[in-house]
Amino acid sequence: MEVYRKEYIHKLNHKKHLGDTMTEKRNVIIIGSGPSGFTSAIYTARAQLQPLVFEGKQPGGQLTTTTEIENFPGFKDGIMGPELMDTMREQAKRFGAEFKYESISKVDFSQKPFKLWAGETEYSADSVIIATGASARMLGLPNEADLVGRGVSTCATCDGFFYREKEIIIVGGGDSAMEEAIFLTKFASKVYISHRRDEFRASKIMQERAINHPKIEILYSTVIDEYVGTKETGLTSVKLKDTKTGEIKDMKIDGVFIAIGHVPNTKFLEGQINIDEKGYIITKPGTPLTNVEGVFAAGDVHDQTYRQGITAAGFGCQAAITTERWLENNE
Ligand code: NAP
Repeated sequence: MEVYRKEYIHKLNHKKHLGDTMTEKRNVIIIGSGPSGFTSAIYTARAQLQPLVFEGKQPGGQLTTTTEIENFPGFKDGIMGPELMDTMREQAKRFGAEFKYESISKVDFSQKPFKLWAGETEYSADSVIIATGASARMLGLPNEADLVGRGVSTCATCDGFFYREKEIIIVGGGDSAMEEAIFLTKFASKVYISHRRDEFRASKIMQERAINHPKIEILYSTVIDEYVGTKETGLTSVKLKDTKTGEIKDMKIDGVFIAIGHVPNTKFLEGQINIDEKGYIITKPGTPLTNVEGVFAAGDVHDQTYRQGITAAGFGCQAAITTERWLENNE
């Protein structure tokens, strides 16, 4: 079995020359570096497939923006998000996974081996695991990008500390908005929750905790119509619009935390793979299989339901095992 496996891996790991540029063909390229990407890397590396992992813009993924994680099995006293992700990366490296701190910007899944580009550099692979996760949805207001980190945030656990004794608004009506609002009361003197409707989507228990909190005030049926501030001044106030009457009021505020859900990171896959209307990769239920044979999905990029570190890791394992079997059967 071991002899067979070594031969098989030798055959898979060859390099091919394309004109002047050399494209290294890999057995498997993993795009993304959250718990799903890293777990895929651990499993495919242990299967001696020498995976190449593209970590993307946020190495380690969403969990690097959280503080303590209390519900990841195996850490009875909790573990810090960045530490958990660093440990997973090191674990994958131990078995030979390689990492690049680059993003894949373009793919061509119409031919085999598959082609992928990180900027101008071309890569090719017999199989691909997509584990690019999801990013925080933004309001899309004109000066939003300028104000991120200057009064506008999507990460309460990262930035809450900067708002001690300040007044802030959380935007959103789901569990994330409730959770972040409650968390931010540890720092802020006053926390408003602005929600576009007059009814929250969040679970009853989370709603009640937020509504009954003495530091939290709910602004139902409101949206932020405009951020006031520049890169230089930072956010100084917002224009808050009543969605029922259309009335717009100025509101002086120190910070805005946006908690209106996430958008899967699949823009670079458009036209290459089946994606649903929200941007999630469509997989065959219960499997990591996409509509392209040899391309597999893992984690928040296809999971709209659980979105947990541990489920993402599970999906990564599933994708890796399926990839290994697929490579063996399609040698
Ligand atoms: P979500 O449930 O999709 O809620 C997003 C909220 O943002 C909704 O209230 C939505 O309003 C609002 N929204 C969306 N786009 C908007 C826009 N452009 N402008 C203004 N408001 C906008 O997302 P989530 O809260 O991040 O939760 C995602 C999943 O994770 C859920 O399944 C949730 O239960 C789970 N989760 C669980 C916990 C927990 O149990 N501790 C904590 C966090 C998250 P509408 O309601 O009007 O659509």
